[in-house]
Amino acid sequence: MSDALRVHDAPRCNDVPEDPLAFLEGLEGASAWHVAGRDRSRTRVVTTLLHGNEPSGFLAMHAWLRSGVVPAVDAICVVANVEAARLHPVFTHRSVPGRRDLNRCFGDPRDTEGVDPEARIAHAILDLIDHQRPEAVVDLHNNTGRNPAYAIGLDPSREALALAARFGRHFVWSHLRLGALLEAVSSCPAVTVEVGKSGDDAADRIARAGLSALLETESLFEPLDRGVEVRILRMPMRARMRPGRRLVMAQALDPSAHLTMPDDLDRHNFEVVPAGARVGWVGPAEADCPLELIDEAGRDRAADYFERQHDALVARRPFMPIMITMDAAIATSDCLFYVVHDVRQSSSE
Ligand SMILES: [Zn+2]
Repeated sequence: MSDALRVHDAPRCNDVPEDPLAFLEGLEGASAWHVAGRDRSRTRVVTTLLHGNEPSGFLAMHAWLRSGVVPAVDAICVVANVEAARLHPVFTHRSVPGRRDLNRCFGDPRDTEGVDPEARIAHAILDLIDHQRPEAVVDLHNNTGRNPAYAIGLDPSREALALAARFGRHFVWSHLRLGALLEAVSSCPAVTVEVGKSGDDAADRIARAGLSALLETESLFEPLDRGVEVRILRMPMRARMRPGRRLVMAQALDPSAHLTMPDDLDRHNFEVVPAGARVGWVGPAEADCPLELIDEAGRDRAADYFERQHDALVARRPFMPIMITMDAAIATSDCLFYVVHDVRQSSSE
């Protein structure tokens, strides 16, 4: 096993410091714990802190390891980007400055092994998964906007929906290829779970309850309980700023910006924005629509969804935005929000 990821046996509960920060400080780097379960023939893998500023999964894992509970099957708990997480102030760095986003390094980490520490950690995690042949992989994250907890996966299979249901009621069916961990796991159901906003108590509670359910449940993939429904949202379009445009988040038009978006826009995550609703203000320097909306085929669909009415940018048709970021830098370089289609409701058969 690579020294990029240190794999330990289950700690005795007394060996895990009570303070999660002391636990983090004591780690030598990316770390995993293999906790023996009642059924040793099966294994589940949970990963946390691929992003150093998303601590809910780590806090849940710390509490769970301290509890000393024997899981239903073997559990492997991974804490990935320890180096980024503990940069001062703790839990504020997504990645180590100047280095790659770890959750974009799983595209083909085997090609880049040894090139940088992130690729080596990614490689070691995939190696561990290959070796252990788990029945499920769940990667726990937070996000920057207000969202309900939701899972992201490449295939809305019954198994993936059952994993999603341990944490929330939404499954985002993604077709994006970003180099994320879940894209690299094909041997078993794998989902990313976004439990809510970093630093939010509700997000920490969801991570904790979901992790316990995930590791302590005998049969993970039984049909969902009656009345439990997971909504499948297909994620075909990504909205971002056109090149060279400036975005400002504020409550009124900022004439220096090409686009001003309300700074509480994330209240509308997972809600339908009706036709005619104002989604932002367009500044005088903008001759066109400042947003582009790229579909799976790479076409810009902005003109189908948005129109300019004087200084307002207005929805031409209803749409549901998810994963709205309130960070103008991310919105400009990566994505402001995704537009989803509601596929169908899944419920117990
Ligand atoms: Zn993340």
